[in-house]
Amino acid sequence: MNAQELLTRIASLNVWKKGDQRAPHKPLLLLLALARINTDQPRLIPFSAIEGKLAKLLEDFGPSRASYYPELPFWHLQSDQIWDFPHTADVLTQSGSVSRKYLRDHQVQAGFTQEVYDLLKATPDLIEQAAMQLLEENFPPSMHQDILDEVGLDFEVIPQYSTQKRARRDPTFRRRVLEAYDYRCAICSFSVRMENTPIALEAAHIKWFQAGGPDIESNGLALCSLHHKLLDRGALAISNEHKIVVSEKANGHGGFQDWVLNFHGKLLLKPRQLAYAPKLEFTDWHIREVFQGKYG
Ligand SMILES: [Zn+2]
Repeated sequence: MNAQELLTRIASLNVWKKGDQRAPHKPLLLLLALARINTDQPRLIPFSAIEGKLAKLLEDFGPSRASYYPELPFWHLQSDQIWDFPHTADVLTQSGSVSRKYLRDHQVQAGFTQEVYDLLKATPDLIEQAAMQLLEENFPPSMHQDILDEVGLDFEVIPQYSTQKRARRDPTFRRRVLEAYDYRCAICSFSVRMENTPIALEAAHIKWFQAGGPDIESNGLALCSLHHKLLDRGALAISNEHKIVVSEKANGHGGFQDWVLNFHGKLLLKPRQLAYAPKLEFTDWHIREVFQGKYG
C-alpha cells in the first residue's frame, strides 16, 4: 500500500448510515490512533486505553445522543482493511453485538494493520494528511483545530487541504449569504470593515457541507466568527420560528452573558428576501445532529 492508497481507503470508510445522521465514530477513532503513532506509541491499542477518551470525543464532537458507543468503531473498522483486530474470539455476544465489557475486561487490543502502521511511521507527513482529510470530510473548518487539540495531534490546521475529488463548494456561496444579511451577523449584527472588506464575518452552513448541506441562501447564515463557531459546536441552534436557542451545556464568565446568553429567545435578523430565511429541513437537521442540548 502506498500513501495515496491509504488516503483513498480512509476517504471511503464504510460508515453506518441511517438517513442523514452523522456517524463520526470511525473518523474520531482514526484520529486518536494517528495521534498515538505521532507520539511513538505501540501499534496495537488496548480498548481500555482509549475507551474514555473516545466516548468523550463522541460526546463533544458528535451528535447529542442518550449513549455513546466507543466499542463500535473499535470493532467495525476491521471491514475497512486498514485495521487489525488480532484476537476476535468472544468479542461478539450471542446476539451479535459487540461486548464492551469483554473488550474492557480482557484488555482486547486493535490498531492499524502492520502495513499501514509502517507506512505512517515512515512518512510523518502522511499522518497530517490523513488527519486533515478525516477532518475535512466529517467536520466544518471551525472545529478542526479544536479536534486536533483534543485528540492530541500537535500540529496546526492546514487550511483548505484537500486531495478529494468530491464536489467543491460553490465559490459564490459566501458572497450570496453575506449579501442576504447585508454583511451583518444574523445573531448579533456585528459588522466591522477595514476599508471595504468585512472582518470576522463568515457564511455558515446550517446543515453542514460535509453532511450534504447545499450551498444555497436558505441553508446559510451570515455570522461573526464567534457565533459561527458556537453554531457549529452545537452551543446554539435556530428554532422553527427562527429564534436563537442557547444550549444548557454552554456556560462561562467573561462575555458569556453579553455574547451568548442574552441572545437566547431572540429572533434572527431577517434576510433581504423571505426566500433566503433558514429552511426547516436544515435547522431541523442541525438540531438533531449538531445541537448539544434539549429542544422542544
Ligand atoms: Zn455575532
